[in-house]
Amino acid sequence: MVKKIISVLMLVMLVCCGCGKKSADEVLANDLENIIKRDQLIVGIKTDTYPFGYVDDKGHYAGYDVTLGRLIARGILGSDKKVKFVPVTSSDRMMKLYSNEVDMLIATMSLTQKRQEILDFSNPYHMAGQAILVKKGSKIKTLKDLTGKTAIIVFGSTSEKSLRTAVPSLKVIGYKTYPEALKALKADRADAIVSDDTILLGMQLKDDSVVLLPKRYTKEPYAVAFRKGPESRDLIRAVNNVIEIETRNGQLKKIKSTFGIK
Ligand code: GLU
Repeated sequence: MVKKIISVLMLVMLVCCGCGKKSADEVLANDLENIIKRDQLIVGIKTDTYPFGYVDDKGHYAGYDVTLGRLIARGILGSDKKVKFVPVTSSDRMMKLYSNEVDMLIATMSLTQKRQEILDFSNPYHMAGQAILVKKGSKIKTLKDLTGKTAIIVFGSTSEKSLRTAVPSLKVIGYKTYPEALKALKADRADAIVSDDTILLGMQLKDDSVVLLPKRYTKEPYAVAFRKGPESRDLIRAVNNVIEIETRNGQLKKIKSTFGIK
């Protein structure tokens, strides 16, 4: 009997200390260390959401999110040049993060409770809110006016879900990118686009045939997104540190105003 108890105890010890043991890679996984070793930060940014992430007249990535990426590279690696940008869309950004194509997403991404189940986030660096964009002369003034109408959303965005809940009778059509969404609105395929005020304002600034309505329906705190897990812990701390310093010294505010963001 004693022998049996001893062998069961040994088995338990083996399971606890042996099979359950993580591989060396898992123990060492630390995204911040990997970035420092590589001496380059790889950031997923948007190219379809002026003025957060877009391609400027000279063909360079630009915008508030892109500039924040450069500041983070400078904070971590000592130079704002040590960053590579990879274009992402609302619908493929999480896939690009989890396939290790990028170290983080700075991509007009709202921190939500649902997303926190599968992602880790930095502290927020901007507060947006969902709003409605219509064609000039449209009779639509509020979300209620969309009852029985058709609205456009971009796949993978927060408005995809919130809109279906807010106006159940609404017909929702989706596009992969924001320029496609705008083109569809202008071609009268729907009555409105519902998305973040900041992105819709960017459309209005570039195209005076559309109007951003004044009401905001949600709070969308933009934050940097990371793979969920202990490997991101040090990296998140480093990014939060940069956000805090650049907020305190007024740099983020200055960058926002450069891009016309309130
Ligand atoms: N901020 C919203 C989101 O994270 C909409 C903008 C976007 O599509 O990225 O889904």
